[in-house]
Amino acid sequence: LDSNEFRKQAHIMVDFIADYYENIEKYPVLSQVEPGYLQTVLPKSAPYCPEPIESILKDVQDYIVPGLTHWQSPNFFAYFPANGSIAGFLGEMLATGFNVVGFNWVSSPAASELESIVIDWLGQMLVLPKSFLFSGSGGGVIHGSSCEAILCTLLAARDLVLNTIGSDSIGKLVVYCSDQTHSAFQKASQIAGIHSRNFRAIKTTRSTSFALSPHLLRSTICSDIEDGLIPLYLCATVGTTSTAAVDPLGSLCNVTKDYGMWVHVDAAYAGSACICPEFHHFIDGVEGANSFSFNPHKLLFTMLDCCCLWVKDPNALIKSLSTSPEFLRNKATDSKQVVDYKDWQISLSRRFRAMKLWIVLRSYGVEKLRNVLRSNVALAKLFEELVATDNKFEIVAPRKFSLVCFRISPSAISKAKSSIIFNSKSETNKSYINEINNKLLESINSSGGLYMTPTVVEGVFVLRCAIGATLTQEAHVRMAWNVIKKHADVILNMHV
Ligand code: PLP
Repeated sequence: LDSNEFRKQAHIMVDFIADYYENIEKYPVLSQVEPGYLQTVLPKSAPYCPEPIESILKDVQDYIVPGLTHWQSPNFFAYFPANGSIAGFLGEMLATGFNVVGFNWVSSPAASELESIVIDWLGQMLVLPKSFLFSGSGGGVIHGSSCEAILCTLLAARDLVLNTIGSDSIGKLVVYCSDQTHSAFQKASQIAGIHSRNFRAIKTTRSTSFALSPHLLRSTICSDIEDGLIPLYLCATVGTTSTAAVDPLGSLCNVTKDYGMWVHVDAAYAGSACICPEFHHFIDGVEGANSFSFNPHKLLFTMLDCCCLWVKDPNALIKSLSTSPEFLRNKATDSKQVVDYKDWQISLSRRFRAMKLWIVLRSYGVEKLRNVLRSNVALAKLFEELVATDNKFEIVAPRKFSLVCFRISPSAISKAKSSIIFNSKSETNKSYINEINNKLLESINSSGGLYMTPTVVEGVFVLRCAIGATLTQEAHVRMAWNVIKKHADVILNMHV
């Protein structure tokens, strides 16, 4: 790695990326390519001889950029954001530049120690109880994703119980969540060997804003116990993926404590907002949980990938996940004075993710981070008002954080269909209303002007407008609304 050559090529790369951001609004937000498009333009095998970075970047511009969906576009309102920043980018650059593989303390002491420090900083920003922090009796780790955080804590919970009752009883273990919980939990349960018949996704309803009912949780647990089963783990969510619903942590933990269950709080999306004092109440009751995770790569400018997980009992994780091969033995590990993060995760090798989080936290500072999160919520409130005051549309679930869930209202469709009697409660018409809304979304997304993704709750097809891309400003939100209205008018005139 010649430093002069690196300097030269890296400058070219930085210019390329800066140009990309400068021009990002010129690209259709949702990539418009067809499946297999890249096969037709790239060579069938790797080049035998070296190629200069200039010609590689030309191909990136010509062939790769058209196949990107532009997550960093200010007109990206799909899924949940993955908001980038200069600080997050520079942090990634530095971590990649060092390219250390800090699986245990000795393999790169700064990587392990910085991770423990930033995880405590962030835990303090969230006002997590001391029992989750290294400075208290717990601790935390940075994983790549919430899927890993959920799986690792489930493995820890499973092994704690199986160590007492014997591994033959694994078929009796039951796990609980709501029907709004991310599919990550179902996958984790499969991997952890929980029998699919023992996976309880408890029904939620619109009338309770899609939050998990403690009452239903208790009755489900009681019926499982009557059947000779063993309640193991609850995955509660603060900010569900469909509608950003919030499960009531305090009341749920009051239930689970009666059965000695492990409670994990998945705040993948909404955790960032909870660093603002006014949103902290959404995690009230977290003191009763065993673990808590969220993704700073969604709304906290940390660039993919970064999921912070805190646990009250690090030893439970370590017991499940540690291995001690001879080739990794060292004095620091033997002294038990250090954190060896390989024992807190699935893989051995690991990225120096703490670096970007540290740089983000320092470059922004807590106050500015809070203010940006607040302005996302303010933009979402504005969008919500625009929708709510237009009688062609309706809000489907109460807005939480910066996600607005809406659709063309049944009454607007009924009005457009004035020639016939339209009962929006009939099953046929319910699916017709869904179809019209689906057409609206497809039409908006294929225009390239903005990108949103849908969900279905209680059989209702919903458009989700998730605000929080770093470059999104009020003008983009207003423009998005105008595009949505225009497409809705066309759809209502054409199809109804
Ligand atoms: N949990 C929730 C609530 C999410 O919204 C998501 C993704 O959006 C996940 C879990 C999965 O996150 P990851 O992709 O980090 O595994």
